[in-house]
Amino acid sequence: MTNYAAFEDRLHVLRDEMTARINALNNDLHHREQAVEKDFSEQATQSENDEVLKALDHEARTIVQQIDRALLSIRENTFGTCCSCGETIAEERLQAIPYVTLCIDCAEQG
Ligand SMILES: [Zn+2]
Repeated sequence: MTNYAAFEDRLHVLRDEMTARINALNNDLHHREQAVEKDFSEQATQSENDEVLKALDHEARTIVQQIDRALLSIRENTFGTCCSCGETIAEERLQAIPYVTLCIDCAEQG
């Protein structure tokens, strides 16, 4: 891996996108909690939607953590190294998902 700067830029852009998504989701959740629904079926639908929003929020937060780890690994010169087996992660894989932490072999093993 030679061109860390390009990955670093992409990671910062992705981090901003994820942070914006988390903020938007939390605004949504906050507004929902303030709105009192009278109808029980509407309430059920709303809590189902809230579960979806919370799942999306959790996913976005996990990605932000992975992005932070990737940015740290760039500073520590370990970027592109599988955090499970220590092998170099294929560049195409990093191009597709710059914050990926596992090589394809480890990812497939689950
Ligand atoms: Zn691996």
